Formats: sequence, structure tokens, C-alpha cells
Amino acid sequence: MKLTFLGTGTSTGVPSIACDCETCTSDDPRDKRLRVSVIIEHAGSSVLIDTSSDFRQQALRYGLKRLDAVLVTHCHADHIFGLDDIRPLNFRYGALGLYANERAWVDIRRIFKYIFEPSHFGGGLPQVIPHTVEPNAAFCLSPELLITPLEVIHGRLPVMAYRCNDFAYATDLSEIPPASMERMRGLDVLALDCLRFAEHPTHLWLDKALEYVEKIKPKRTFLTHIAHDVKHARDSAKLPAGVEWAYDGLEVMSDE
Ligand SMILES: [Zn+2]
Ligand SMILES: [Zn+2]
Ligand SMILES: [Zn+2]
Repeated sequence: MKLTFLGTGTSTGVPSIACDCETCTSDDPRDKRLRVSVIIEHAGSSVLIDTSSDFRQQALRYGLKRLDAVLVTHCHADHIFGLDDIRPLNFRYGALGLYANERAWVDIRRIFKYIFEPSHFGGGLPQVIPHTVEPNAAFCLSPELLITPLEVIHGRLPVMAYRCNDFAYATDLSEIPPASMERMRGLDVLALDCLRFAEHPTHLWLDKALEYVEKIKPKRTFLTHIAHDVKHARDSAKLPAGVEWAYDGLEVMSDE
């Protein structure tokens, strides 16, 4: 299975507008972070997690040709505002399966009311096939791709993490409930929320993220949803073996 990090930045992106800090003015491409998203490719299937507000730019940069499904973690702007840009894929391949939990569906139908209650004809609309996911109710997107939605807590909001075979993507969270921890056993690769070094009410910060890594024990961990507090090269030495800061364009091969 191949994973590609299309974006690894917090909700503002990095650099942050009007900021001249050390990270925002860095020349290192690993310090340029679009909004978070990852693409999973396995046995001929391509699955995107979240249509970020940078989705169009990410798809063009990555050379995206096809998608089989989109999994939604939650409906915050940085994770969903690129939904309109799936239209070129619809023009070529038709409607696309969109998987989200019930709470996210309420918000998707409100924010993108024009998709679900079209008021005029002409001009293409995104075409989605809605699927509601339930925590721990695994489903197959293809015979070789088993998806398990896992509930994690983002401040007070329940959001979805996804286990895809032996890879798990868990961003925008401050807590992983025991039932979800249980289903993260035996991971090859974990992509985990880690906003910055200082505590935060709705995201993991480094010490807290590393506590979860200790408990989950994936073979490799990539930290994502990173704010400008983190400068890639300067701060890589702060991570233990097996844990790395993800960066835009990073490709990771996972065993099965
Ligand atoms: Zn976010
Ligand atoms: Zn900055
Ligand atoms: Zn969020």
C-alpha cells in the first residue's frame, strides 16, 4: 500500500498569512504545509481522506488521475472546503462515494446545500454517493482494502479516524477512546495529529502524541496537522526512533 501526504499543515496552512517567524520564512520545502489530506493507493484503488481547502492544488501537484472514494474525518473547513473540486473527476468517471459519520453529514448537507438541493440547472455540480459510517463498523472498498472507521474526540466533537488495512489516519483529536485504541493494534504505519509542542484543547501536542505512540506501538509514526511552531529540520531531533514529522509530498510504503 502506498500513502502520500498531500498536506500536513494546520488549518491556516504554513506559512501562515502575515507571519515572518523562522518556519514561515524557511526555504525548506518541508516547512511549506498545505491543509491536511492523504491519498491511499492499494491494489488498483485510490482513496482520498478529506477534500482539504487546498484539494485542487494538491490534486494537480500530485497528478491525480482517478479516485474511487473519499473518506471524511469531520466537517471543519480545512478538511472539507475542497469538495466542489471533485467535479472534474465526476465529469470523467461519474459520482464518487463520500463516506462520513452522521454528524459530519448534517454539516456537509448544510454547507454544501447547493449540491443536495440544486436551485438552478447548468454548471456542473459535485456528484456524490453518500455513505454514513459508524464507529467500528468495518467495510470493504475493494476486496483488498478493509476500512475501519474509528471514533476519536476533537475537543468535544466526535470525529472519524480510519484504519485502512495496517495503516491508520488519525488527525484532529485530543483523545483516543479505549475502543478505538484497541482497534489500532498491529499497525504498520500511523499518521497522527500533532499540532505543536505546547498543549492545545482540541489537538494533540508532542508529549501527548508520543504518549499515544507508546501505547499503540505502530512500527512507524508520521505526525501531521503541524503548525508553524514546528520547523522540520530543527525539530526532527526532538522525535524518538520510529517517529517523524510528515511533510507535503511524503510517500510511505506500508506492508499490506
Ligand atoms: Zn483540521
Ligand atoms: Zn509563522
Ligand atoms: Zn478540526
